[in-house]
Amino acid sequence: MTHDITAQALPPYADASEADRPLFIECDNLVKIYKVADLEVVALQGLDLLVREGEMMALVGPSGSGKSTLMNILGGLDTPTAGRVRVGEYNLLEMTRRDQVFYRRHMVGFVWQQTARNLLPYLTARENVELPMALAGFPARERHERAADLLERVGLADRMKHHPDRLSGGEQQRVAIAVAMANRPRLLLADEPTGEVDNTSAEQIFHVLRTLNQEFGVTVIIVTHDMTVATRVDRVVGMRDGRTSTEILRRREGDVAVGEEEYAILDRAGRLQLPEAYIEALDMRDRVRLRLEESHVQVWPEHHARPNGERPHEDNGAEE
Ligand code: ADP
Repeated sequence: MTHDITAQALPPYADASEADRPLFIECDNLVKIYKVADLEVVALQGLDLLVREGEMMALVGPSGSGKSTLMNILGGLDTPTAGRVRVGEYNLLEMTRRDQVFYRRHMVGFVWQQTARNLLPYLTARENVELPMALAGFPARERHERAADLLERVGLADRMKHHPDRLSGGEQQRVAIAVAMANRPRLLLADEPTGEVDNTSAEQIFHVLRTLNQEFGVTVIIVTHDMTVATRVDRVVGMRDGRTSTEILRRREGDVAVGEEEYAILDRAGRLQLPEAYIEALDMRDRVRLRLEESHVQVWPEHHARPNGERPHEDNGAEE
């Protein structure tokens, strides 16, 4: 079945200018199944996600919830089993090999948690940044200039000739960000980029991502466990069991967050996943009591007294 996901309601947070931005990423009922020997592992089970051009968002969730799988699909490194996923003009389910190579080289940049995975040890910082441009066929002079410009933007103008082993973990990650941005991608994916560095370095890495997001308009998705990073982005999407489950959205004025609101994802079948903390706080199980009000829906744990003082056991079953 095809489904027009552009018709999906947008949360009321979005100020007009953001809501006017075109949708850049559309994941619709995305499924990824890994087959290991005779076993099937469902890593994504019907994931829906919309991301607007130029957004900077974080993806959080317990280990095994499908974050890396989603990043690999968005990065063109893995293909989904079913569903729909579009990034810009690319339908990632139907890419030819040629499209795939172009997509990985020009549309998307990747920063990995393991600093060693991002950089070649025998090249200087500048040579590392130039490498993707060389593979894309840019002339030497342009490579040289752009690498210098990018290293300056990530605050490493004085480290250009250093090899990775002479840079701190945080500096290496900032070089990695410059490498990822070398071919001017429209999408920057960072999988736990601050996972192996101290707080000060994490702060610098975050600052660099934010700056590039603002200066180049690149859409940034950061997978993180680091709640300080998660609180500094505009939108935090929570994942659970291979689906998006919650969202925290912030309204910003300049660099300052002026409001924060938590949302749950309502899927097309009307299913709503409550945050685990809410379920625990009110000891909700199996069933919850609902009431439709004029502007909202109220949800109580089943065992809770009703607002008018009745206990659930006084029910005559008429509602069941
Ligand atoms: P997260 O990044 O949130 O920790 P992953 O996307 O790595 O989650 O994993 C989601 C699920 O898919 C897990 O159950 C994991 O074991 C499984 N999985 C991920 N990659 C593979 C793979 N290459 N082969 C088999 N199973 C995988």
